Parts: sequence; C-alpha cells; structure tokens
Amino acid sequence: MNYNSTRDKNRVVSASQAIAQGISEEGGLFVPQELPQYSTEDIKAMLAEDYRGRAKKIMGDFLGDFTAEEISESVDAAYTAEKFGGENPAPISYIESGDKKMSLLELWHGPTCAFKDMALQILPHLLTKSVKKTYDGKQAVILVATSGDTGKAALEGFRDVDGTKIMVFYPVDGVSPMQKRQMATQKGENVSVVAIKGNFDDAQTGVKKIFTNNEIKEKLAANNMLFSSANSINWGRLLPQIVYYFSAYCDMVNEGKIALGDKINVCVPTGNFGNILASFYAMNMGLPVGKFICASNSNNVLTDFIRTGTYDKKRKFYTTISPSMDILVSSNLERLLYHLTGENAEKVAELMNALSTDGVYTVDADVKAKLDKYFWGGFCDDENTQKTIGKLYKEENYLADTHTAVAVNVYEQYVEQTGDKTPTVIASTASPYKFAKAVLMSVTDEALPEDEFSMVDELSAKTKTAVPAPLASLKDAKERFSFECEVDEMPQTVLDGLSIG
Ligand SMILES: *Cc1c(COP(=O)(O)O)cnc(C)c1O
Repeated sequence: MNYNSTRDKNRVVSASQAIAQGISEEGGLFVPQELPQYSTEDIKAMLAEDYRGRAKKIMGDFLGDFTAEEISESVDAAYTAEKFGGENPAPISYIESGDKKMSLLELWHGPTCAFKDMALQILPHLLTKSVKKTYDGKQAVILVATSGDTGKAALEGFRDVDGTKIMVFYPVDGVSPMQKRQMATQKGENVSVVAIKGNFDDAQTGVKKIFTNNEIKEKLAANNMLFSSANSINWGRLLPQIVYYFSAYCDMVNEGKIALGDKINVCVPTGNFGNILASFYAMNMGLPVGKFICASNSNNVLTDFIRTGTYDKKRKFYTTISPSMDILVSSNLERLLYHLTGENAEKVAELMNALSTDGVYTVDADVKAKLDKYFWGGFCDDENTQKTIGKLYKEENYLADTHTAVAVNVYEQYVEQTGDKTPTVIASTASPYKFAKAVLMSVTDEALPEDEFSMVDELSAKTKTAVPAPLASLKDAKERFSFECEVDEMPQTVLDGLSIG
C-alpha cells in the first residue's frame, strides 16, 4: 500500500515515508492509493476483537512497510487501560429520546482529556518507526500549530520520546485557561511551547511556511534533523481515527443497538476536518454509513461550503467557547476534494491555489452532487451551545463539553429538518472539565467563582461527576513555559529552540 500526494499524482511514497515526512514537498497531503475493503463478514470477525485487536487489523492493512510486530507493539503501547481509564479507550454513552438516537462516542478518556489522544498516543510510535525506516539516525523535529487540544496531546505523546523534539505554537488568546495551563506546565526534556500573537490560522500558516522553507530545512539537514508534523495533516494522525468508527459500530452491534449490516449516521464537531474525514474513509472501506453530519460553531465556513459548494475563508473570525473548532481553513478538506474529484490532483492543486491567493474557490457540479449525497452541514453559536449543554444535563443527566454540544445541537437540527431516525454516532470530543467555565455557566444560574480550578471543583460538586485525574493534578503543577512571539518571528524561534540559529 503506497501513498500519493493530493497535488501531484506522480509522487508515490511508502506509508513510513508519508508518516515521517508529514506533508508532501509541493504542499500536498498524502493519501492512500487504494483503501482496504471490508465485507460484512470482515466486520463480523471484528465483533469478537477488542479495541486493540480491531486497531491492529485496520492499521496493518494501511501500513504496507510495517511488520505485524511493529504494529502490534505500537497499538499495545498506545491504548493501555492505564492511559485510557479502561479496557475500551472509546466507550459509548447512549441517549435515546423520541426520534433521537444518539450514541455518544466518548473519545476523551485519554491522558489529555480530548479526542486528540486517540491519535497522538500512537503517532509517536508510528513516527519513530517510520523515521528509522526512511531516515535512519535522524532526529525528528515535530512542529505543531494548535487551537488547544492538539498541542497538549502531542506534547504528552512525544515527551521524552528518543530521537524527537517537539515545539508547539498556540494563539495567545485562542485557547481556554485549562488548555493554556495544560501546555504551560508540560513536562519533558524535549518539549517547548510558544504563544503567538495571532489566531490559529496564523499559527497553522506559520508552521506550514516553516516546513517548506528551504533555508531552514538545510540548516536542519546539516544538523542531522528533519521536520515532521503531528498536525492532522499527517496520515499517521488520520489513520488511528478510522479505527474508532469501526470499533463503535462493532460495539453497537455487540450491545444490541443495531444489527450487523444496519446503517448508521455519523455527526462530528468539526474544525480541521480530520475526525469527520476519518469516518468518510471508514465508509469507503465498507462501514455502512448513510450521512455525515458536519457540525460547526459560528466559524461556519464548512456549513456554507457543504450547502453551496463555495469555500470562502474571507469572513469574520469568531473566538468561541468551542475553541478547537475556531478554524477558517480546514486542512483535511483537501483530502476529501481529492477523493470527490476522482483523484484529480491538478484540480485539487488549482483549488488550493485559489484558496491561498483569492481566499475562495467553488467546486464543480459533479463534486457538489457528491457533497449533497454524503454530507449535511449545520452550525450552532455559543448561546445555543450553552442551551444544549443545559438541556442535555437537565433532561438526560449527560454532561457534555462545548464541542460535543455543538454536534448534539446540529444533530437535532438535522433530525428536525430531515426526519431521518437512523441511529447516529456523535463524536464526543472533550471532557466537560476542559471547558469548565462555559459548561458550568450552562448548568447553573449562580455566580461563578473567580479562578478556573474553583470552577472545576464547583462543576464537580454540582453535577456529582469526577474531575479527570490529569486535569485535577494541574492545579499544583509548576509552570515552565511563558514565551510569546509575533507571527513573523516563528521561523527564528524554531531555529533558536533547536540551537541551530
Ligand atoms: C480538534 C478538536 C475538534 C475538531 O476536530 P477536527 O479533526 O479538527 O475536525 C473538535 N473537538 C475537540 C474537543 C477537538 O479537540
């Protein structure tokens, strides 16, 4: 199984090269040349496996130049009961009322309490093995742009991993206090964290520019280093996310919620389009999915795109209570475009070029028809997000975080508008305690305490739910990183951080 670039079909790389490199040299993203196909019988065989067994099967079918032992080792090291608080790292909570059949797939039981752990606990294992295969002896320098959750999850995944260094950039005013605290207190000898004076798109664009800056790359090469990416553009991030959609389906069959072969819908709170794209890959491999419901917050560029076929990033940027979705350039959409255009790399290059020069592009009628067939887009602003959290808590005794609540709200809009009663997997992407202020405000009318940790304690007392241990321990953790820089200082900051200035 080899991989192509979305912008140049003549580039062909192995799985390990795709993962080690992160992004193709001309700026495209790596995509598998073909997808493994699973019949109902194959899915039936997965029913008897646990999460790790399913992960080994699926990831093994994509990672052509990895041995079975390497895959096994990686999966077993990543998804331990200790790290994920139980044997199943991605359990489901069911909420069924009236026409609504929600299976909340809780992807946040890992060490940083957001769904990014599902991929970032295994990526370091895949990446170090990939670098060994393709660039033996080199040190991998991981640069990350984060809207909050990726940064912490990547830091935690890569901390003190031999042969790697990791540097994380986050928008100074674009993450929650808890997210900031999580990153500022990060432990590890090979980590650094920088706040940039800009928004997430500035951070992401800045990192992309550094990746493709020849002068910097040469300096790295001279010092026996190479760049790699832990952002969701890396295939090694996307692949582990395919697993949990198959696993959720199997669990739903095993738990008697659906019969083998039944269709489900999938609803995902979306930012960079990685998580929802993983479910789209799962369908193209044989998972019976009817509709993909793409949920956005007020930064509803994807809602408009799905509804009109025009992607227009020239719009107001909102800082919301679901900051991990405050994104106007959804990088992984490029992969969807590649598949929906019939793998037309020239067309994708043209659209991406238009996006960076004009800030807008429109897909042709054929692609729009496919978007209509598979996707439904909706959005939910902060006020309705909080109402949804309050209602879910009051009526269903389920405490959702702000991102998950966006998805629940959009799912409800979908059911109202379409009448579609298909059981729906809703990606529950973060612990409510990561966004304690907004969640607490949604479930109480009382005055809020002053600081973040008092809010956490109050939320716990009020809802009688436990504070996840990794967040509770932050209260007394020592702050290590407080450095801030301008967007245009990012390249120099990287060189300084690596001491190769
Ligand atoms: C990253 C993130 C999202 C968005 O996921 P994408 O794969 O970028 O679409 C949603 N919710 C939470 C909590 C996140 O951390």
